[in-house]
Amino acid sequence: MRTLIRNGTVVNANGAVAADVLVDGETIAAVTAPGVFPEADSIIEAAGKYVLPGGIDAHTHMEMPFGGTFSADTFATGTTAAAWGGTTTIIDFAVQAKGTSLLATLDKWHEKADGNCAVDYGFHMIISDVNDTSLKEMESCIDAGVNSFKMFMAYPGVFYATDGEILLAMQKATETGSMIMMHAENGIAIDQLVAQAIASGRTDPVHHGITRPPELEGEATSRAIQLAKVTGAPLYIVHLSSRHALTAVAEARDTGQNVFAETCPQYLFLSLDDLARPDFEGSKFVCSPPLRPKDHQSDLWRGLRTNDLCVVSTDHCPFCFKDQKELGRGDFSKIPNGMPGVEHRMDLLHQGVVRGEITLARWVEISSATPARMFGLYPRKGVITAGADADIVVYDPAATQTLSAATHHMNVDYSAYEGWELTGRVDAVLSRGSVVVSGGEFHGRESHGKFLARELSQYLN
Ligand SMILES: [Zn+2]
Repeated sequence: MRTLIRNGTVVNANGAVAADVLVDGETIAAVTAPGVFPEADSIIEAAGKYVLPGGIDAHTHMEMPFGGTFSADTFATGTTAAAWGGTTTIIDFAVQAKGTSLLATLDKWHEKADGNCAVDYGFHMIISDVNDTSLKEMESCIDAGVNSFKMFMAYPGVFYATDGEILLAMQKATETGSMIMMHAENGIAIDQLVAQAIASGRTDPVHHGITRPPELEGEATSRAIQLAKVTGAPLYIVHLSSRHALTAVAEARDTGQNVFAETCPQYLFLSLDDLARPDFEGSKFVCSPPLRPKDHQSDLWRGLRTNDLCVVSTDHCPFCFKDQKELGRGDFSKIPNGMPGVEHRMDLLHQGVVRGEITLARWVEISSATPARMFGLYPRKGVITAGADADIVVYDPAATQTLSAATHHMNVDYSAYEGWELTGRVDAVLSRGSVVVSGGEFHGRESHGKFLARELSQYLN
C-alpha cells in the first residue's frame, strides 16, 4: 500500500521545502521534488499545507493514580485525543508505588497500555522508593527500553526523594548512561507554606500558586544541577515554569553540563490570574509547578529560542472539574494536581509561529525532533525522511478553530482554553502509514499503537 502526500511544504527541524512524501507500508519511502512520483494507491493533497513529522509528547500521565483518584484519560482516550491534535507518539510515566519493584511497575503499565493505544508509546519510570533493589532494577528497565527515571523533590511522603536518594540514583544513571528527570520544587518548604495557608483560612485555589513560589523551583533546580554535577549524571528538568529555574538551567548549560529542560503550553499561555478565577474555577488550573505571574512567559519563549528550553511537553494529567477537582473545595491542597493538554500542544505552539515567537522549523524541533533525540527515538521518529516511520501530520496553517470542552476529544469535562480562537489546525494524521485522522473523522484503532523500546538519549553519545 503506497500513499503519496503531494504538493505540500515539508517542514523538518532544519527548515521547510516544497516536496512530495511517498509512504510505503509503515515507513516513508522517499521525499522528492514535487511530481517525481505521479502514482500511488492513495493520494493526499497537501497544497497550501505543511507536512510535519508527527508530534512527540514526552510527558503524559494516562490513568495515573493521584490522591485516591485517577487521571481521567485512559490510554485509549488519551492517545486518541493526542492523534486528533497531531501527536503520534507519547511517552508516559510508569509510577512505582513505595514498597513495590520497578519491574512489577513496568509490567503493570504495559498491561494498561498494550493493545489500547491509537498511536505509538513509550515509558519513563518514576522512582519513588530508592533502595538496593530498585537501583539494581534500573539496569533491567534500561534493557527493556525504559531509560529515563523521574524523581521528585516535591510531594514529601508520596514521591519525594531525599538529596541522598537522588545522589544514589544519579550515580546509577551515570554508570548506565541513562537520564534522571527531575520535578524540581522544594517540597519540604512548600508543605510548611501550604499548612500555614490552610490554617489561616486561605483555602482558595490561587493559594496553590502562592504557596509554591518560583524561588523554591529555582532553588530545587539549582540543587538538582549541583547533584548532577557531583555525580556526572545527565539531568532533564521536567515542566520548567519560571525564570528562576530557567536562569539556573542556562547557567549550567553555559558551562557545558548535560542539563536539559522542557516547558509546557500552560506555562507559555496561562498564568496565576487563571488560578485566581472566582467560584472555584481556579481549580481547573491547579498543576505543579503552578502557573506563574504573566511576566514569566516572555522569559520562557526566549528560553525556547536560545535552546535553554529544548522540548515542549504537556504534562497531560486531566482531572474532571466535577467530582475530581471538587475534592478540594475549601482546601486547595486536596485539589488533584494536573491539567488536560495532550490534544492542543501542536496547535498552541503554532500560535508561537503565528506571533513570531519561534520559527516554523523551531516549532517542529521542540515538538518532535528534539524529543525524539532526547529520548532515543531518532530518526525512526521526529523527522520526515526516507526510512523513518510514516508518522506524518498534514497541517493547514490558514484554518481557524475554537477550542472547547464541547468539541475536544480528551475525556475531561472542561478545557483550560475554553473559547480560544486559534490559527491553524490538523488536517490529516498518519501513524506508521495508517490514516488515523482525516476529513474531520477518526479512522484509528486502539490496537494500532506499538510500544517503543527506546535507545539511550542521543544527546549523550
Ligand atoms: Zn508530570
